[in-house]
This record gives sequence, C-alpha cells and structure tokens, in this order.
Amino acid sequence: MSEGVQTSPAFTPRVFSGIQPSGGLTLGNYLGALKRFVDSQDRGIQSIYCMVDLHATTVWQDPEKLSRATRELCAGFIASGIDPARSILFNQSQVPEHAQMAWVFNCVARMGWMKRMTQFKDKAGKNAENASLGLFAYPALMAADILCYHATHVPVGEDQKQHLELTRDIATKFNHDYGVEFFPLTEPVIEGAATRVMSLRDGSKKMSKSDPSDMSRINMTDDADTIASKIRKARTDPDALSSEAKGLEDRPEARNLVNIYAALADMTVAQVLADVGGKQFSEFKPMLADLAVEKLSPISGEMARLMEQPDEIDAILRRGSDQARAIATPILEQTYDIMGIVR
Ligand code: ATP
Ligand code: MG
Repeated sequence: MSEGVQTSPAFTPRVFSGIQPSGGLTLGNYLGALKRFVDSQDRGIQSIYCMVDLHATTVWQDPEKLSRATRELCAGFIASGIDPARSILFNQSQVPEHAQMAWVFNCVARMGWMKRMTQFKDKAGKNAENASLGLFAYPALMAADILCYHATHVPVGEDQKQHLELTRDIATKFNHDYGVEFFPLTEPVIEGAATRVMSLRDGSKKMSKSDPSDMSRINMTDDADTIASKIRKARTDPDALSSEAKGLEDRPEARNLVNIYAALADMTVAQVLADVGGKQFSEFKPMLADLAVEKLSPISGEMARLMEQPDEIDAILRRGSDQARAIATPILEQTYDIMGIVR
C-alpha cells in the first residue's frame, strides 16, 4: 500500500479486488493485478479476491468455457501466491449480496455518470445500441463488489481508475442522501512499473484477455516457445533502446516492453534502461522472453497441476463464498435498514 493513502479511521483496512473469468489470464492481469494482490496478502491486510463471473456475463460466454475459465482463474490466483487459508477466494455468483447491492447502487448512480465510463465505450464500440444493459451497469455492480465488504483499498490496473472514482461517487451520494457515514471512500491502489500493459500488436491498446487476437497478449498458460515467438513478433520501432525513460516518451511499443521487463524483474524502468540502453530489439527481445518464461512457467505449471483437481477448486470457492457472505450479509442488512426497507 503506498504511503500517503488516506482512509477514514472509522474503517478497518480491507482489500478487495476481482478478475473476470472472461478468458484466460494475461500478463497484463498478472502484473497489473495478481502479482500485487500477493503483496497486500503478505502485508497481513485482510484480503478478499473474487472471480467476477457476473461481470463476465455482461457479454455472452460459452457455458463450458465460463466454468473452465472460473476454475482456471482460481488456479491462477493460487499459483500466483494467494493462499486460500489467508485470503478469501470466491466467485461472485455464490454471494448474492453483490447483485442485491448492485440494484441499490443502480438507483444511486446517475445516468450522466455512467455515460462517461470509457470502458463501456471501448467495449460496446460502434454498436452501443446493441450492447447489453448489464455492460452499461457494470460499474455499479463493481461498486457493489467493493462496498459490500466496506473495502478501503482496491489494487487494480490503470484501466479501472475511472470505475474506482465512480465507486467513491456512489458511496458519497448514498452517505449524503441518507445522512450517514456508512460506506468508506475506497482508495484505488495503482502501483508498479506495469499498471497498464499494452497489446503486443498495438501500443495504443491495452492488453486484454478478451482481445480477439491471441498474438496481442501473453497468456499465463502459454508455453515457452509461444511466449518467445509472441515477443519476437511484438511490434516495435527500428531504433535502439534509449538509456533514459525520456527517450521512450513517444515510443509506446518500446516503452511497453521495457515496462514489462521492469515489472517482471522487480526493477525500476531507470534501472532497466541503465542496463539495456543502446541495445537493439533483436538483443532485448530474447532477454525479455527468457525473463518472462522464467517468471511465468512455474505459475503455469502449478495452474495445470491444480486444474487436475477441479473438485478441490470448487470446494475452495464454496468455502470462500461462505466467508465472504459472513461479511457481506450484515453490510447489506444495514444498508436496507438505513433505506427503511422492511426485512
Ligand atoms: P476483459 O478483456 O474481459 O475486460 P481484462 O484482461 O481487461 O479482461 P479484467 O478481468 O477486466 O481483465 O481485469 C482484471 C484486473 O486486471 C483489473 O485489476 C485490471 O485493471 C487489470 N488489468 C487488465 N488488463 C490490464 C493491463 N493490460 N495492464 C495492467 N492491468 C490490467
Ligand atoms: Mg477488463
């Protein structure tokens, strides 16, 4: 947790974050989210991590693939270092309080706020009239995910910053409308060298698990040859690497590869450039591929091992859901009491 992060003292620090089972995990998910989830768990802060299947179904998902992606995501959390004995690990649909709280927030959030959300615009594309109502309402459900637990900190990638701001707006409006200080103003925690990993094919687009092009991303389950080949074919420019970050300002693809290297090696960009400045991509790309394989292959190996025991994964998700409900149920009940809903 960065210094200077301020929360109201009335709320105990609690971390919540989610990942959609909308495909396989990518290097972007790992560096922007998973790797940093482990940090908060290891700092002893109560941490709740969710496979947000209700978000995934805002676009159509093949039922078999959804089940597999949910289990594989759970395996990815564990293989990356999340310990179900120390953190709560569960899937969203098993805790109905998320959907119930989302309805409350659908009625707090304003149309004008929702229309400004860039993720909806990006995902709906040119055909917004044909997008699901759920995709439009997504950020209110995300606010519910977080505020159902009175979470004070949410580690996410840069792309989720706007949704976190909306979550604070929803909490502020609810508190104001009912004259209470019930929901915390949650802080986004966006840190590290790779808060926005970009597509390997287009330096202006973020890497996403739902991108139709598999060459745009590195999947956590890619084998060493695939990783090396995707990095070799990653779009770059013809110049050598600069020895200072300033020299990468107008070179998004080059900056992306250096950021990935820095995040994987736990180095700063300045440290990486001090080492590799002056090198051509023909030399740097194999270094990056080796590093990526070294860091990712133990995780993908462990994921494959865990996937052989789907019953064990389901049991972990059920246990985690019970633990999550024990926190979310009283918070939803108190919300209903504040609103005057008879129960
Ligand atoms: P989808 O394409 O279905 O939206 P996604 O790859 O964007 O999938 P999400 O499940 O939406 O993944 O996001 C999970 C977490 O990963 C969030 O914290 C998000 O900010 C982070 N994240 C996603 N993509 C990146 C990226 N390219 N770089 C850094 N963090 C990322
Ligand atoms: Mg996303």
